[in-house]
Formats: sequence, structure tokens, C-alpha cells
Amino acid sequence: MRLPILMIAALLLPLAACEKAAEPAKPAVVEAPAAAVAIADEHSYAEPGKVAVKHLALDLAVDFDKKSLSGTATLDLAWKDTTSTTLVLDSRDLTITKIEAGDGTTWADAPYELAAADALFGSKLSINLAQQAAKVRITYSTSPDASGLQWLTPAMTLGKKTPFMFSQSQQIHARSWVPLQDTTQVRFTYDAHLTTPKNVMALMSADNDPKAARDGDYSFSMPQPIPSYLLAIAAGDLAFQAITDRAGVWAEPAMTAKAAAEFADTGKMIDTTEKLYGPYRWDRYDILVLPPSFPYGGMENPRLTFVTPTVIVGDQSLVSLIAHELAHSWSGNLVTFSTSRDAWLNEGFTSYVENRIIESLYGKERADMENVIERNELKAEFTDENKDLQPLAVKPGVLKDPDDNLSGTVYTKGAWFLQFLEQRIGRAEFDGFLKAYFEHFAFQSISTVQFAEYAKTNLLDKYPGKVTQAEFDAWLYQPGIPDTAPQTASARFDAVDQARTHWLAGHMAPADIDSAKWTTQEWVHFIEGLPETLTEAQIKQLDAVWKFTGTPNGEIAQRWYPLTIRSGYLAARPAISDFLARIGRRKLVMPTYKALAATPDGLAFAREVFAKARPGLHPITIGSVEAALADKPATATP
Ligand SMILES: [Zn+2]
Repeated sequence: MRLPILMIAALLLPLAACEKAAEPAKPAVVEAPAAAVAIADEHSYAEPGKVAVKHLALDLAVDFDKKSLSGTATLDLAWKDTTSTTLVLDSRDLTITKIEAGDGTTWADAPYELAAADALFGSKLSINLAQQAAKVRITYSTSPDASGLQWLTPAMTLGKKTPFMFSQSQQIHARSWVPLQDTTQVRFTYDAHLTTPKNVMALMSADNDPKAARDGDYSFSMPQPIPSYLLAIAAGDLAFQAITDRAGVWAEPAMTAKAAAEFADTGKMIDTTEKLYGPYRWDRYDILVLPPSFPYGGMENPRLTFVTPTVIVGDQSLVSLIAHELAHSWSGNLVTFSTSRDAWLNEGFTSYVENRIIESLYGKERADMENVIERNELKAEFTDENKDLQPLAVKPGVLKDPDDNLSGTVYTKGAWFLQFLEQRIGRAEFDGFLKAYFEHFAFQSISTVQFAEYAKTNLLDKYPGKVTQAEFDAWLYQPGIPDTAPQTASARFDAVDQARTHWLAGHMAPADIDSAKWTTQEWVHFIEGLPETLTEAQIKQLDAVWKFTGTPNGEIAQRWYPLTIRSGYLAARPAISDFLARIGRRKLVMPTYKALAATPDGLAFAREVFAKARPGLHPITIGSVEAALADKPATATP
């Protein structure tokens, strides 16, 4: 349905030319290998084949009253095309007041052109230089509506006293707070100087110092080259609590102890992953717990994972999120995908590694349960309408907005593919392959084709007779789930299935089900296996014993509330209203909004609740909810 428009957009795009220290003793800068990138990034105006940014120096003031960052971004340039003198950058909603070119000591004004804004890609910024300059310095400020930043009033925080701000740059939102080459094909090191109000602590995806004095003046250095989507900033009333000597938690003071307890296994997770795939290359690994409005579960900002507080449920049952974000330190942050069409190289590998960490720390039963839940979701996500988004390697032009990747494809099908390869090749051999892969492509951005070539030599040909090229290619280029997909059984889920069947048949009361040791995964599986609708009596029976309505667990809530809505159970509405006002994590709230939007009465209720929740929500979540509550479903709208 979206295909024709996407193809047009893809064709038009190239034609739019008119328009702080954990270990301060280690300042060594990691050199990014010169990657031979031939594939264009459809989602960036940058021309990294002509010139590439090697280093970024930021000097920014954080202004909570104006909801703006302002100051300078200085870009160090490496020219590749000897004839080119134009630097093309990505930007969105930036107010640019001055651009200079120079060598770092002498500067001269440089003329530039800021093209009209494209709704998805922002404004192409072309800087016309008299000659190939070593550096370009841009003086600018961000818009209060910058798509990559969220500004929270004190009332929207836990402590209620201090404002809070944070970034979410993935996939193409870094351009809304820094003018740069916003593509995964360019890696750069960075340093930054930030000023904030004195009572505010600032952090970045860099060398945060756990002992930094809170004085409103902060300096950061990131010596490992990163792609732009890993550029991150946060500022607020933040305190630190150590987990191990190289890992810790940053959060609002009332949350640090709780978070450190929930994430107590982080040190073990790092050790486990290092044993499997080689050294952790980013020095410290800290976790920043954000307010509940964070639109995602987590974001793998290097050295400082950003996480939603919704996984802090008291029993460590949702810490696979930390395993996931940590795994990105190898898959994604170290070996990066070269276009959004190759996103599965990022999320699929990461979901695979995440599952291995969970298996190693918490056992195969838990890893299997998580696999089954994710694969069931994948099967539900695949429909005849989205077949073009189901191959791991999406065709050029299909993906209009890089945020529109089908998560089931890139995460779960990607991981399932690697689980298939592991099963056929053998675990020890496949572990060796992955370890070598992370080493071989470290600090590079690669495409699916490069992965496939590497795997042909180092996997298919090296272990003949295990996997055919046709079997391998089917995962990459065909929609759906290949017949070769290994199946996973879970004895604990079998017990849940049995309990549910007995209850539905009227043979067993909820109180008689032996659920004392059930974890989040089992509750989720129980609810997911229920019929499309229940009677009011059935819902009341379950609520009387297990109190699903009003649950503080977002994984349960995101599945239970849509069921009550489909069943016409209006008594759940006050709890739904509270849930939607409290939580901004897109994955958790969208199923409930979508279920409400299915009936006129539900839609009216949803709009009312959304109007109240909106001021506390992130722009990314607001966009998704608005689309779901529009007159037509988002997928049917061009
Ligand atoms: Zn991820």
C-alpha cells in the first residue's frame, strides 16, 4: 500500500540537490578503518565519498527555559575527492547564525545554503568553501520542538524539583540537535563542553566521571569513533551508584538504589559477553535511568545506555533489556550497519547475543521462554500487507522512514537466522565465527552483502554440507519465516498453556493455578494465549486473584488492557487512563491506543486521555499515537 509513494520518495531524494573520564590515563584515539562504502544512504543528504567528518567538537549551553541547546559545532574534515569544495550536512529545525571555515586558529566566514525542510529528512545544509578547509565551525541553536530532544518540566520528573532533558538520536534525529553527516556510514570521535544551570548534572555518550563535581560546567571526550545516531546527551538531577568498578547506574536520586539492585548482574553480563565475543572496547559501561516518558525500552548510547524505568519491576525479570543494550557494544556500536535497510545486522545480531547472555546467566529455560514470546509476536506481525518489509535485507526504496522497520523482522527474524546458523554449524564453531566477525569489522559500517560474503568464506565454505547457499539466502531475501527455522519448546510455557486451558474450560479456578513462581514471561504467555475476548465474569475472576487491572508491570499491562477493551470491560478505564498518563514507552502504550481506536466510543476516550498525557510525552511517541488516533489507521495513510 505504501510502496508506490515510497518508490517516488526514493527516486526524488537524490534529485533534491537544488534546494568524562573513567580512566583518564587512556586518551588514545581509536582510528576508524577506512571503510569502502559504495551503497548510498537514502536517509541522509551527506556525501561521505567526497568528504567525511573525523572529529566533532561541541560547545553548547543547555537552556531549560528556552528548551534549546545553543553554541558551536566544529567539524574536522577528511577530504577524499580532490576536486570537491562543498560540504553537505544534515540538519533539522536548526537556527544557524554563522558558519566559518579555517584551520583551527584562523577562521573566515563561509557562505552556505539551507534548503527547504523535508518532513522526514530535514534541511540539506550545503557549505560552499573557497578551498578544502580542515575545519568548519557552525554557530547554531536548536528548536524547542527538536525531534531528537525531549525537555521535561520539574513536574514531569520523579523528584519534581529539577528540569530534565535527554536526546534520542537513532535513527536520524541527531541532525535535530547537531548539524552533521547523519548517516551510519560516517564515524567520528568527539569532545564536548557543556554549560547547564549549576544544580543540574550533564552526561553524554562519552567518558562520564562518576565523581564529577556538579557545578554546571562539564567536559567530555569520546575517543572511539561512533556513528551519529550514538551521539547522546542528558541533563537533570542525576546521581551515581556503582555496580562494579567499571559499571554503574545514573538516575534521579530516589531511583538509584532501586535501579542498582535491579541491574546488579550487569558486571556478570559484561564478563559473559567478553568471554564469548572478545573484549569490551568502550572502557566504562554505565546505565542512565530516564523518566517514564522515554519512548523506547533502551538506547545503546556507548558507555551510557539509556533505559526506561518500566523494566525496574523488582525481580530482575526484565533485565534482558540490559543484556540487549550491552550486546550492542559489539553488534551495532562496534560493527555498524551501513544503511537502515541493513538494520537487522544491528538488531538481529544484538537480539541473538542478548539471548545468549540471558541463557548464560539465568538458564536455558528463561532464554527459551523469551524466544517463544518474541517469535509469537513476529508471527502476528507478518501479514500479506507488509511482505516487502519481511526479508532481512529490505530492498532499496521500500523503507521510507528508517523508524518504520518492522521490529519483528530486524530483531526477531534476525536473531532466529543466527540461531538457525548456530544450530546447523555447531555452537562452538559459530561462537568462533561471531567473535572473529566482530574483530574483523570492528569500527566499520557494513552492508548485508558484506556480511553475506564474509559468511560465505568463513561459515558456508569453511563448514561444508551444513547450510546451503539457498537456505542462507532465503532468510535474507524472502518474506516470511523460512521452513529451516529451528523450533523451541518451553516446558514452563506448556504448564501455563495447560493451566489456561483448564481455567477456560471451567475445570479450575485461578486461585487453584500454581502461579506462585511465575515470572513476567509466564504471565505474558498466559495472557497472550487467552481468546480475543473474555466475558465480564471471566475478567473479574482473573482480576480478583491476580489484579492485572492496575498492574505496575508494563509488559502485563500492554497485553491485558487491549483484551479488556476488546471485551468491552469499561471498569478497566480508570486504570487504563492512569497507565497511559504515566508511561511514554511507545511499545507499551501503542497496543492499548490501537485497541481503543477500533471503536468510536473507545476512540473518543483515547483522545481524551491522550490530550492529558501529551505534554509529558516524547515527540516520537506523540507521532505514533497521533497516527493511531487519526481518522484512518496510520498504515493506510500516505
Ligand atoms: Zn537494539
